[in-house]
Amino acid sequence: MSFLVAGNWKMHGLSDQLGELVAIAQYARTAAGTNDVLICVPATLIARAVAVSGGYLAIGGEDCAVEAAGAFTGDISAEMLKDAGADAVIVGHSERRRHHHETDAVVAEKAAAAGRAGLAAIICIGETQVQRDAGTALQDCAAQLEASLPADRRLLAGSAIAYEPLWAIGTGRTPNAQDVTEIHRHLRQLLTRLMGKDGDRIRILYGGSITPADVRTILILPEVGGVLVGGASLRAQDFNGIIRAAETVNLANVETEMSVPTPVPAHSRTTP
Ligand code: PEP
Repeated sequence: MSFLVAGNWKMHGLSDQLGELVAIAQYARTAAGTNDVLICVPATLIARAVAVSGGYLAIGGEDCAVEAAGAFTGDISAEMLKDAGADAVIVGHSERRRHHHETDAVVAEKAAAAGRAGLAAIICIGETQVQRDAGTALQDCAAQLEASLPADRRLLAGSAIAYEPLWAIGTGRTPNAQDVTEIHRHLRQLLTRLMGKDGDRIRILYGGSITPADVRTILILPEVGGVLVGGASLRAQDFNGIIRAAETVNLANVETEMSVPTPVPAHSRTTP
């Protein structure tokens, strides 16, 4: 499976920030193109981001309302993001959960709203430092994910999960390879149990202090389907380094798959 390399600009970006997006789009155009690249930007920039990206990147929003329309001053619906040209939207980012008191149930409704509008949802989950220290991260993340999925699983087509340990976001700290592997495997098992084969197709991204220097060590881990990048997505030089690393890992994976000899069926083997 190819990777999804996604950026989250958070509440950063005036018009002049679009220059970085142009540089990322130019790089994505010349890269091998074996992975998907998405940048989620503030709603005020979506239409212009779509225009300057020239179709070489997908553009997403960072949140959407539960409702499609109505008397909700200041809110932006998934339909509005779609109408502005977005392909995807982040839901349940820990900063929304923390600052806007979004519960798992609200996140599930937002993911459903995204699906109904034809947007891919990037559903974020992750444990706190307290949960990590208590040794309950695995169970906490699984419970959070299950409660953050829409009841109608068909609305998840094309969506992804982002595992983002809260203590790793914007801190420069990252979990070790064993911890990432353990959580991603556990989440995959959960998705498969809940959704069968459709659950196998949902990418599980890692997010939290990713840089061009360390992204490779994360992407080579089992069940890691890409990355969600905050700070390092604001500078084209850094984000392009991350795209480049993902291309390298993906191409190496493809070569390994091609070099595995195809087993000869038992019935056609000649006995010496
Ligand atoms: C994020 O905000 O989703 C994130 C992963 O941020 P950072 O890469 O800056 O830790």
